[in-house]
Amino acid sequence: MSINSALMKATPTQERVLVIYTGGTIGMQPNTTGLIPGGNFQARMADALSRLPLVHQHALPAYDVLSYPSLIDSSAATPLTWQQIAKDIAARLATYRGFVVIHGTDTLSWSASSLAYQLQGIDRPVVLTGSMYPLETANSDALDNLHGALRFAANAELKEVAIYFSNVLLRGTRAIKQHTEAFDAFFSPSYPCIGERVGDDFIYYPSRGLGFQQRGAPRFELADYQAVSNGDVIRLTLWPGIAVWQLETLLNDSRVKGALLQLWGAGNIPNDPAIIDVIANASGEGKLLAAISQCPQGSIHMGEYAAGHGLAEAGLLSGGNMTPEAAFTKLTHLLAQPLSLDDRRQRFLTSLVGER
Ligand code: ASP
Repeated sequence: MSINSALMKATPTQERVLVIYTGGTIGMQPNTTGLIPGGNFQARMADALSRLPLVHQHALPAYDVLSYPSLIDSSAATPLTWQQIAKDIAARLATYRGFVVIHGTDTLSWSASSLAYQLQGIDRPVVLTGSMYPLETANSDALDNLHGALRFAANAELKEVAIYFSNVLLRGTRAIKQHTEAFDAFFSPSYPCIGERVGDDFIYYPSRGLGFQQRGAPRFELADYQAVSNGDVIRLTLWPGIAVWQLETLLNDSRVKGALLQLWGAGNIPNDPAIIDVIANASGEGKLLAAISQCPQGSIHMGEYAAGHGLAEAGLLSGGNMTPEAAFTKLTHLLAQPLSLDDRRQRFLTSLVGER
């Protein structure tokens, strides 16, 4: 991990915010094969922020920039990336009042969810942002997103991992990317925004935030994700005509320790008892299996229809209204820790960081 020279020179105080730059479109520049992450982010960011009206510049917190040595398109992120970001934040908690994580949008909500589990009980803001267009592109959303992320990262009332994008602040575990092009690329299907920009004001809604809902000191869980970074958790979305052998091939593989199944509607599967058997066998082998709906909104209620009968008895845990990101990263997080199967199952069903 190389720390940007500006950070080395700075005398950090609790008043400063740390900006962690991991890559993504926001900092990208063209090369012969397409857009790739570009360096020199601190100077480019400062240059962009200097174009804000003075009144906004004066309201910005002081900040340092930590640039990762290997900048990535976030489609290359893995659980080890999530672990690295969490470790970097945890190691600097005493020094900074808040954190901004600059991240590609493609898997930004996955990293946000994972950070929320790893940094449970965090007592200050961690705000992820990125943009749909690079900083230097005309009419880019990058400057607005950076501006808002910095403002919320300096708000001591915010005590959780959040995403700031296109004027709204969303709980990290509740957001999904919904659009490949629009500025408002993220939305939170089952939980209201926890803050927003209204005109020139950045308004936080404390009653919707975890700071209000959770009590006690931070209880970070910085587990070693190496053990679950080799395809140990899978995600499987049902499609019409799925065959039992296909489900079996994936769930029976001894390398698979957990799986997120995305069922139909309120929690239904094709009418084939052999599917229940495959799930029951995998669960009986100690695999952590959970289900959510393919619908982006609403909860699953397994067993409401005959088509979902027997799933809960087969050991499939209900993911309620969790996003795929929140459910998948939770399985990963629970499997990375030395917990009993019962503890894992019980914790999956419990809301740890407002994810369900
Ligand atoms: N492919 C880019 C990334 O996720 C997309 C973006 O940042 O908007 O890094």
